[in-house]
Amino acid sequence: MSLTSSLLYLDGVTVSFDGFKALNNLSMVLQEGEMRAIIGPNGAGKTTMMDCITGKTRPDTGTIYFDGTVDLTRLDEAAIANEGIGRKFQKPTVFENHTVRTNIALALKESRSPFHLLVSRLSREQNTRIDEVLDTIRLSHLQKETAANLSHGQKQWLEIGMLLAQDPRLLLVDEPVAGMTDSETAETARLLVEIAKTHTVIVVEHDMAFVRDLDVKVTVLHEGSVLSEGTLDHVSADTRVIDVYLGR
Ligand code: ADP
Repeated sequence: MSLTSSLLYLDGVTVSFDGFKALNNLSMVLQEGEMRAIIGPNGAGKTTMMDCITGKTRPDTGTIYFDGTVDLTRLDEAAIANEGIGRKFQKPTVFENHTVRTNIALALKESRSPFHLLVSRLSREQNTRIDEVLDTIRLSHLQKETAANLSHGQKQWLEIGMLLAQDPRLLLVDEPVAGMTDSETAETARLLVEIAKTHTVIVVEHDMAFVRDLDVKVTVLHEGSVLSEGTLDHVSADTRVIDVYLGR
């Protein structure tokens, strides 16, 4: 494994807000096909890190290499999305008035508006892709349901499906299980583990039981830098992590 063969490489990224360093020389490497969980106390810089990857925030210094050579810090948000980086924010933003199936159809690259869907039929390939995504997110049985009628968990899965429909090369997921029931949380872990078989994923999450279910490498952020990295058991036994985060 080398840095140039990694899918994402944050190299010494620093972001200051009014002199306060939200990210402080942050470096992290993510290999293609890997799923990584990011944890850390409030204010550790998790959101700012995701914002830098998607171009919402531009670092003061440092480089973010995507796919070895593309420097994301030189691209705007639209160009970064075009590189195949999809982000799911904490709150689901599905099209409430459309059916589950139409939501996935709208997310397909070729059909950006309900109007476009009305005037042009989807191809067989597109319909097959929608079927596959519905199957992955286990909402096939609800495909004719209006999204507004879904539970909170189902809306989160639908939004993940909308991202999947776009075939992202990197999927960023912000606190996916916030507000979920225990069974929804367990189902979300199962879904992400399934997705990670074919995708590269970064998940930010506070729920340690959920992170344990993911069974992936964990990066602990603190004061804008990496405090510890490894399995959840490894970082949980790290006294620095216990002091600033888990021990509270
Ligand atoms: P986390 O997601 O880990 O809770 P954030 O990335 O949201 O952490 O925030 C890191 C630090 O940067 C916090 O102290 C926060 O108050 C500060 N911060 C984040 N965004 C801004 C902003 N737009 N302006 C000023 N300070 C900010």
